Amino acid sequence: MKATVSEECIGCGLCESTCDAVFSIGDEGVAVAIEEDIPEEYEDAAKEAEEGCPVGAITVE
Ligand code: SF4
Repeated sequence: MKATVSEECIGCGLCESTCDAVFSIGDEGVAVAIEEDIPEEYEDAAKEAEEGCPVGAITVE
């Protein structure tokens, strides 16, 4: 499974709070996801972040 963040991101920081193993707020003030596969133990948290994103900017698949 991989996570991606689209240009819709408004930089609210919720995904980082939910799953900082996968998401972080980058230098440009928007979220970035790790490029490698999501470690299995963080898949549930990453999906939670996907569901919680207020603008639907996260895809986890
Ligand atoms: S929760 Fe969504 S809008 Fe907020 S920082 Fe993460 S990707 Fe961006």
